[in-house]
Amino acid sequence: QHAKINKRDYQIYDANIDKNSIERFQLINELKVAIEQNQLVLYYQPKLNLAKQKITHVEALVRWNHPARGIIPPDTFIPIAEKTMQMDALTRWVITEAMDQYHRWQLLGINMCIAVNISAENLKDEQFCHWVINALAEHNVPVAAMTLEITEDAVVSDPELAVKQLTLLRKNGLTLSIDDYGTGYSSLAQLKQLPVDELKIDKSFVQKLLENEADQIIVQSTLQLAHNLGLKVVAEGIEDKATLEWLTKLNCEMGQGFYLSRPLPEQQFNDWLGQSDYL
Ligand code: C2E
Ligand code: MG
Ligand code: MG
Ligand code: MG
Repeated sequence: QHAKINKRDYQIYDANIDKNSIERFQLINELKVAIEQNQLVLYYQPKLNLAKQKITHVEALVRWNHPARGIIPPDTFIPIAEKTMQMDALTRWVITEAMDQYHRWQLLGINMCIAVNISAENLKDEQFCHWVINALAEHNVPVAAMTLEITEDAVVSDPELAVKQLTLLRKNGLTLSIDDYGTGYSSLAQLKQLPVDELKIDKSFVQKLLENEADQIIVQSTLQLAHNLGLKVVAEGIEDKATLEWLTKLNCEMGQGFYLSRPLPEQQFNDWLGQSDYL
């Protein structure tokens, strides 16, 4: 695979591509070490219950605290993990860390449900699904406290297998959420077959909601569609108060976005939550 990357770079010679591919090559080798040596860290972003104005849910978002490069965002290394068969190890690390965090919050008297992101690779792996179910039992974490967020595209490549795996996870009590809804290529026919509990409307429809009438129409009809199908809705990418209020009026169940808080590491998240009115 490395030979293939190099060949392409020499064909269209471009110093930038060359530099990027060297960096990528280094990251591939370092990622394995990073997972083993606990260089990954989870940041937490609140999902506000809009009707109750309470925070009982968070999304865990992984970062790589690289010894030389500092904090690396997930968009940089998740695709590498996917291409180099390291998604299984990475997601298991994320879920294990989230389970520990669940107990740390319990000790503070905070009953928090945690959402983690699952990649297409994980969903194709039957062992992975069984591992999740067993891990929760072994770590004494109630299944109801764990949500798995899955993008539409994870379902598209093999819908039958995806439905089978999701059904198993949901039968065991996990909450399932479709992430980045509206940006993927799944059809409504596929979506209606998915055994899920929640839709997350992609931030691209939410960020400029009040400036853009088309976005308002899309979000409004998505809310209606989801509610008619019995699904809860989370709007991600809320960046101002007016958007939060608009979504609350339309009975959107949960809201997430920089207006409330950016994703924060544990201690900063706890400080933020402690001084908020949402506990
Ligand atoms: P996502 O799951 O859709 O997560 C939401 C992303 O939107 C996060 O970016 C979050 O910081 C960002 N966001 C939230 N609110 C706002 C807002 O108001 N404005 C703007 N501009 N952005 C907002 P982040 O943390 O960089 O993560 C990017 C993506 O990386 C995630 O998108 C998810 O697909 C992936 N990812 C993150 N952690 C994991 C993980 O543990 N496993 C896997 N498989 N993927 C992960
Ligand atoms: Mg997500
Ligand atoms: Mg999302
Ligand atoms: Mg996203």
